[in-house]
Amino acid sequence: MLLPTLVQAQWYRYTDTAMTTSIDLEFWAEDRAFAERTANRVLSVFHQVDQQMSRYREDSELSRVNREAAGHPVKVSSGLLRVLQKARMVSDLSNGAFDISFGSVGYLYDYRAKQQPTDEDIASHLGQINYRDIVLDEENSSVAYRQQGLLVDLGGIAKGYAVDLGVGILKKAGVRHARLSAGGDMRLIGDRRGRPWVVGVRDPRTEDRNAVVLPLVDTAVSTSGDYERFFIDEAGNRIHHIIAPGTGKPVRGVQSVTILGEDALTTDGLSTAVFVLGSEQGLEMINRLPGIDAIIIDEHRRMHYSEGLQPPESVN
Ligand code: ADP
Ligand code: MG
Repeated sequence: MLLPTLVQAQWYRYTDTAMTTSIDLEFWAEDRAFAERTANRVLSVFHQVDQQMSRYREDSELSRVNREAAGHPVKVSSGLLRVLQKARMVSDLSNGAFDISFGSVGYLYDYRAKQQPTDEDIASHLGQINYRDIVLDEENSSVAYRQQGLLVDLGGIAKGYAVDLGVGILKKAGVRHARLSAGGDMRLIGDRRGRPWVVGVRDPRTEDRNAVVLPLVDTAVSTSGDYERFFIDEAGNRIHHIIAPGTGKPVRGVQSVTILGEDALTTDGLSTAVFVLGSEQGLEMINRLPGIDAIIIDEHRRMHYSEGLQPPESVN
């Protein structure tokens, strides 16, 4: 008989950095060799998607599309096409609050160097923000831009896509209890062996403090916040990374948005969209979408919940 000590059924945890954020993987596995092998495959997904969809890499597939698609249709991988299709859906749903062509102005911000465009710079590029000028040809798997100067940025949706791919690998390998996150985008497989996972929604103004904790199983959770990438300018304004396509400026009114749903590609796109829409219009959109819920923390630190998360009215 095999000695039971050779079987190392336990929680395994791995971390990495990719897509300019931290990747965190935790799962239950029967033995260490399987866990190592599986974790390596899952973590490598984030580097692959970064290579495909990063705007910071000149040799990424996205950068090539940005250079060429205004001139002629460019063939794209099925993965990139998928993300572009979902982005289009979220743009239509949100009336253009979510718009990946915000990059035309978004690229003028440099958060590390604390630089922002002047009003004139913004005005001269604002016309290049229009997701309808990104033309997808599903049959030929190609994309063309109707405008010179249009630049796509997938920072609001690509991490969710990668998390879904990672979850696909885990499930195929037979993993039944896992938590996989890339920055603010997370998916849970199953529960924590008899107990739900506990996911904290961060207090947007206090690190290491949760505004609320949610017991969850088998869910995708994405949070967009104004605290992820920002600087405070001389006028005291918080210049952060979520841009209103209508003005080319950082969105005001909301500090963080958390979306719950089935897959992270959807929750990632929607968290950014609701951030731009604000609490009222954002909740209106979410309440129309089956299986999707939202928690919004506004600029006065008030919390807003979608209908699916309202406590039932007490019956006396
Ligand atoms: P993160 O997990 O990086 O905080 P979010 O899901 O909150 O990501 O998305 C923020 C990112 O979305 C920005 O860094 C930028 O790349 C992109 N973005 C900013 N404004 C918009 C917009 N109006 N529409 C689509 N994407 C946007
Ligand atoms: Mg997002």
